[in-house]
Amino acid sequence: MHDPAKLPAPGVPEVAFAGRSNAGKSSAINALVGRRRLAFVSKTPGRTQLINFFSLGSTSYLVDLPGYGYAGVPAEVRQHWEELVGGYVATRSSLAGVVVVMDSRHPLMPLDRELLAWLREAGRPVHVLLTKADKLSRQAATATLQRVRRELASEHVGATAQLFSSMKREGLEEAQEVVEGFCRAAQKQSPG
Ligand code: GDP
Repeated sequence: MHDPAKLPAPGVPEVAFAGRSNAGKSSAINALVGRRRLAFVSKTPGRTQLINFFSLGSTSYLVDLPGYGYAGVPAEVRQHWEELVGGYVATRSSLAGVVVVMDSRHPLMPLDRELLAWLREAGRPVHVLLTKADKLSRQAATATLQRVRRELASEHVGATAQLFSSMKREGLEEAQEVVEGFCRAAQKQSPG
């Protein structure tokens, strides 16, 4: 079961990263935060489903949510993920926004859409990072970005999307600006 007491007390705004296993989430986080100190590790019972907190200076956290869509996971692990991540996005008061990481070659898979539906229900700002863009031709990458933006416009109004490559370090600034924007907007809503 998800135990909110195991997370740090909600405080400064946090931006969570979520994505299918192997989508490139860890690489994206490494590219964005470098070797910044791991601020807090929340050990949740049940296999290796962890919520990791990275400090972004003293003003915000980057939160690494457990990946989903592993092949052949037992039903109870999948259920644990749903409770953990579903509970977190529905109730976490300091959550400023969520970056959903997708492999640009396979965007908007069923579990991505499930997560987007929870985020829409919870009214969370969403940004989609289309990773491994270096594996697509420029033309195919642009077409994918347009298609994802079009689908988001009908499924999650206000959600944004961008191309990203950890390997080529492409799209870093844009992603950093979005993360900072989420935090600024959250701070405006609940100053001090
Ligand atoms: P995670 O499971 O979502 O955390 O995914 P990882 O960050 O561990 O990446 C999964 C695999 O994709 C690894 O083999 C990475 O080296 C590779 N990968 C991640 N990002 C990129 C990228 O931008 N370009 C390329 N070509 N490969 C990437």
